[in-house]
Amino acid sequence: MKTKGIIKQARQFAKPFRVTQGDKFRLKDVDPAETLGLKSEDKPRAREALALGVHALAELQDKLYAQDQWAVLLIFQAMDAAGKDGAIKHVMSGVNPQGCQVYSFKAPSAEELDHDYLWRCTQRLPNRGSIGIFNRSYYEETLVVRVHPEFLEKQKLPPELVTKDLWNERFQDIRCFERYLTRNGVVVRKFFLHVSKKEQKRRFLERIENPEKNWKFSAGDAQEREHWDAYMDAYEDMIQHTATKEAPWYVVPADNKWFTRVVVAAAVIDALASLNLKYPQVGPEKVKELAVAKRALARR
Ligand code: ATP
Ligand code: MG
Repeated sequence: MKTKGIIKQARQFAKPFRVTQGDKFRLKDVDPAETLGLKSEDKPRAREALALGVHALAELQDKLYAQDQWAVLLIFQAMDAAGKDGAIKHVMSGVNPQGCQVYSFKAPSAEELDHDYLWRCTQRLPNRGSIGIFNRSYYEETLVVRVHPEFLEKQKLPPELVTKDLWNERFQDIRCFERYLTRNGVVVRKFFLHVSKKEQKRRFLERIENPEKNWKFSAGDAQEREHWDAYMDAYEDMIQHTATKEAPWYVVPADNKWFTRVVVAAAVIDALASLNLKYPQVGPEKVKELAVAKRALARR
């Protein structure tokens, strides 16, 4: 299939999961096991589609890099074991590492806590021509920090600033920050990989039982399950308040990894394709220079 056809298909795949206006968004309306009618026996076809998508993505990224005007920021948020790492690994497998930066945000360090919460993220923003991936992000400030008020206490905020409006203020500031990025040529796309509590349990058990996956498991991850409902409320509120036309959320069903990856790839292709990327055209001076160089090369 030609790149044009892949782009068209990608649009169709990504669209059902895109949220650009949050007020009507309800998390319960997205089934984590959704596959848009594809069945388990369609997995090989989905893998083929992903391979084609990865190839198309590489082509688009090459132009993004050559043009050196736009930057693309992809943000991934999810509960543990929803498949963030795997989605990033598979979807980005074909891109040129020179034009791609991945950063994983963990619990903030002492130095980071001594600054405003966007500080550490602004330092990792992608440069023009590049795709930047945030594996977790400033959105943790409205998720884990909301579910665990003890994290907020560590942030050394002046007490008079910590009011009941804090979360709405954070949403507002994040919306403004993303609008600022957009106006600067940084295209923002956000992914929430939506896994069910039942599937997370199955994946945790697999991590415990399979020695090659033991390293991925930490007891703390299992403890967080006790706060599942609080997390879901925080995710829903976050999406309702920060889904915008310029920086949409994709709420991606994550109980089937093969499906998650196809949707993420589709959304990234759609974002890049919407930029109308082109290789830079050279001017008459450069054309002359090339002709001179060609003649010189022919002589030696
Ligand atoms: P992941 O859990 O993303 O797969 P990991 O297991 O390698 O990655 P962890 O050491 O678990 O890495 O780091 C991620 C943890 O950091 C998450 O539990 C997340 O909630 C926490 N975290 C991220 N940002 C913040 C923040 N701003 N404040 C507090 N905790 C945060
Ligand atoms: Mg972890």
